[in-house]
Amino acid sequence: MNDLIRDRARGCAVGAAIGDALGMPLEFGPRRHAGRLVREMTPARLPAGSFTDDTEMALVLAESLLTQCPLDPVDLAQRFVAWYRARPPDVGVHTSGGLSRIAAGEPWDQAVAAVQRQHPDSAGNGSVMRCWPAALAHWNNLEGLLIDSRLQSWITHPHVECAAGSMFTNAVIYYLLRGVPPREAVAQALDAVEIPPALAAVIQLAPARRRDELANSGWVRHTLESAVWGLLTTDSFEEAVVQVVNLGNDADTAGAVVGALAGAAYGLAAIPGRWWEALRGEWPLGSGHIWRTDDLVALTDQLTPCE
Ligand SMILES: [Mg+2]
Repeated sequence: MNDLIRDRARGCAVGAAIGDALGMPLEFGPRRHAGRLVREMTPARLPAGSFTDDTEMALVLAESLLTQCPLDPVDLAQRFVAWYRARPPDVGVHTSGGLSRIAAGEPWDQAVAAVQRQHPDSAGNGSVMRCWPAALAHWNNLEGLLIDSRLQSWITHPHVECAAGSMFTNAVIYYLLRGVPPREAVAQALDAVEIPPALAAVIQLAPARRRDELANSGWVRHTLESAVWGLLTTDSFEEAVVQVVNLGNDADTAGAVVGALAGAAYGLAAIPGRWWEALRGEWPLGSGHIWRTDDLVALTDQLTPCE
């Protein structure tokens, strides 16, 4: 891995956490007017700069990949359960449904299948928001990247669009890390991944959307639409993330996804210092230890030579 790719890999990890933290106070809020966009880390239910479940679950995936690469789904499921038992302040409904059954002793594949049967059309963004560590661990192996991106989704989000969305997101990161420009990276990822036509159409049309057309809900289609729109209609890390988190609604999750993409496109060096300095989060949960940007950089450097 050369220095340029390393800077982009670090940018992907730090960018995801920064997008999550910048979006945290805007979650469930309204779309903000173009002239009144939030550009600073602000406090809400958590202190300013705090990342949330999106980054926490990504850290769990990263730690699992550091132990076992390719991914061991049983190890990841058990680590998700340990995180869930530490009572995270945020946890998605679908995620919590599956993890509570695994915590009660059910094998992960049966647990998640039972939850999906209750809500067969449920296709939330909970596996796309945390998938980026699989892209970094497999930065030099597209086939392995796609397999583990799908597998990490299956543990909580088996819907075909959630699995395809995770593979697509990480394939975009794969091409961006190599220096492919964003528009081509999205096109190449659409070619490389088998994506249900309805989701592929949403991704293809995203850059032509107007800001006020973007719902930015917790539906995986809406999150990918916002993230691709943010990446392809701006030309800096800062602008991509600011535009997306200010859509409100599921702001932190869309922020995490566009942050991973834009971080991989522009690299760590392009991330504003004021955000870098503000980023924080207790990790592991309950430990009292506060993670900062340097810890994410160190984790990325451990993760990237996985193969
Ligand atoms: Mg969150």
